[in-house]
Order: sequence, then structure tokens, then C-alpha cells
Amino acid sequence: MSQSLPKTYKAIEVQSKGGDFKIVDKDLKLPAKNEVLVKVQACGICHSDSLSKDGIYPIKYPIVPGHEVVGKIVAVGDDAKEWKVGDRVGTGWEGGHCNACIPCRKGAFVSCDNGTINGVFKAGGYAEYCIIRKESVVRVPEELDAAEVAPLLCAGVTVFNSMRNTPAHAGDVVAIQGIGGLGHLAIQYARAMGFYTVALSTSDDKKELAVKLGANEFIGTKDVKKQVEGLQKLGGAKIILATAPHADSIGPMTDGLGLDGTLLVVAAAGPVTVNTNTMIAKRVALRAWASGSAIDSEETIKFAQHSGIKCHVERFKMNDVEKGYEKMMTNKARFRSVLVFE
Ligand SMILES: [Zn+2]
Ligand SMILES: [Zn+2]
Repeated sequence: MSQSLPKTYKAIEVQSKGGDFKIVDKDLKLPAKNEVLVKVQACGICHSDSLSKDGIYPIKYPIVPGHEVVGKIVAVGDDAKEWKVGDRVGTGWEGGHCNACIPCRKGAFVSCDNGTINGVFKAGGYAEYCIIRKESVVRVPEELDAAEVAPLLCAGVTVFNSMRNTPAHAGDVVAIQGIGGLGHLAIQYARAMGFYTVALSTSDDKKELAVKLGANEFIGTKDVKKQVEGLQKLGGAKIILATAPHADSIGPMTDGLGLDGTLLVVAAAGPVTVNTNTMIAKRVALRAWASGSAIDSEETIKFAQHSGIKCHVERFKMNDVEKGYEKMMTNKARFRSVLVFE
């Protein structure tokens, strides 16, 4: 089943490791039996797109990046009839899973041993059309703005789903380290989840912004020791969510945790050094987390909708993809760069 479709469409490709973005014409293919074809309305530009662009993962070039996709279904495969032409949908990091490996059998689809990743190992959403495997399709409410929803499918679900899977309860001190693309969402989610929300920043001039986003307290200093002291004055944090990929400032944060606190890392910062001596005293845990499955993304979007959480975005047309990517990579986007297609 499909509606009238063009023969070709435009996509943004990276053609070799570290290569520039190129806009190319591609032949439009109908979805295979377990897939749907989506006309893309918006696709977020995420820091993890550098894994494709710079070949940090073993990429088969050319690749169309993009794993924060929102659009409308225009064709469905024979075995994907749970979805219909016209459905408003999206997809995130998890691009498909096997349903057979141990992580899948435990429901942790994003950790599937045989899974694929949108925009990394299969073509993603930097394009007018995108094929999505049926099990990674996320339902997106019709009334929401595509560009504002797109980053929730990766940045949003990463912060919301990681925090809700910790032992933190309403009223506990939860600190958000970094006020960038992930951090500005994390502050809003943490506050709406009932946590006593502390924003940690390296610069004092983000205070007004942090409070506006919902922070109960703000600690703005380059001195990590002072950030730690600030948290200890509050009795220590139950969770510190590290959203910025700076290994040097993540490790020392274990000292800012209270009893049974968790340093929750969602930023891919490489090797991090922690002090096990002080961690033992407070039974502190170090935990890492990757986004979530399609249903986690749906719940992330619903929670944002019901709680008035909003992703602040800068919109870019296909021709301006370099500009949007550069702003994201240099942390100058306020707060997420998003490609828009209509
Ligand atoms: Zn991402
Ligand atoms: Zn699996």
C-alpha cells in the first residue's frame, strides 16, 4: 500500500571517512516487508552523527546520517500492517533489533547484540525520505512540531529514560552536569519528575537560563571541587547526570554524591578516572546509559507533552547542513540543531 511517490528524492550523504556532506539524488525504494517508508519532516543533528561522519564506528560509505527522525508514513511493507499510510511517526538511535538475543529477551532492545543503528549502519533521516524498520517506529502525536520532537527521540529519551531507571525518588537531589543539548532537556525532565534539580555549569552566566528551565539551584564554576562542595552542602546528590563529553570533569563528580548515589553517564567521554576510595565510603555507583527503545521514546514524548517540556531548536534547511552540524559540534546551537524538510 502506498500513495503516489516521486521516483527520486534528495538525501545528504557522507561519502568517505571525514568527508563533507553532499546532497545527492537517490532512487526511491519501496519498503521491504518489515519496514515502512517515511516522508521526513525533520531530523535532529546529534553529536553521535560524528560517529558516521568521522568513521569512528566501522561505517560502510556512503552513509546518510540521522537518528532523530520525524515524518509521515507514505508506504508500508506487507508485514508492517500495524502501521498505516498517513501515520505520524519517528525513529531514534535504535534502528532495529533481533528479538532473540539475551538483551532483547530481557526487553533491552537498544542493547541488542544483532541490532542496527539509524544513520550509522543503515540510512538515516538526513533525507527527504527514510526507511524505518517496523520495530523501531515511534508514534508521534499529530499536533506536535516535528522539529521540536525530533531531538526527543535521542537527546530526550536518553536523559528521561536514564533518570527514570535509577533508584532516585521525588524530592531527591539530582544534579545535571552541563547545560547543552542534553542538559537543557535534562533540567526540565528532572524538575518535572519531582527531583530537587541542581544545574551544574562551568560558567556563572547560565544561571538565569538554568532557573528558567526549572533548576532549583545553580552552581556555576569551572572549579569542579567547588561544584562538589556545593552538592555536599545539599547532603550529596542521589544522581549526577553527566551530559557533557569531558572525561576530566566527570570522574571527580563521584565526590558530590550522597549515600547510595549514582554517577549516571550518558555522554560518550571515553576513559574516565574515578576515586574508588571515596566511592566505597558512600556505596557510590557508576552507571552508563544509552537512549531507549521505541516505546521509551513514545513515553518520553508524552511526558514532555504533559509536563510542558520543550526542546529549544535551531532549524536548518538541507543546504545549510554544514552550518547546523558545525553549531552542534562546537556547542553553539541553542540548544539542538534540526534539519527541516518542509
Ligand atoms: Zn543522538
Ligand atoms: Zn537482539
